[in-house]
Amino acid sequence: MELNRSNTEIIEEFKKRRTRQIMAVGPIILAFIALLSVEGNPTGIFGLPPNIVLGISFALIISVLIFSLFNWRCPACNKYLGKAINPKFCAKCGVQLS
Ligand SMILES: [Zn+2]
Repeated sequence: MELNRSNTEIIEEFKKRRTRQIMAVGPIILAFIALLSVEGNPTGIFGLPPNIVLGISFALIISVLIFSLFNWRCPACNKYLGKAINPKFCAKCGVQLS
């Protein structure tokens, strides 16, 4: 394993990525609340018709998923970190993350 960056730098970078990842959950929750509110509600919400609310919600969820795909990566080997919320080590290269 080649070490280009110090462990402290990797841990710092991972901390930033984790914070961004946690913040990205907010829009997902809003999108799901919007989807649930619009379910069986022909008048829509916030003055928006249901098909617009559906469109915005799905666009939001897909954007966050794409964001996660780029953000939720190991700072050392750049491999996707998977479903773990707070991994201590990268499952791929074994670097310490927190
Ligand atoms: Zn790694």
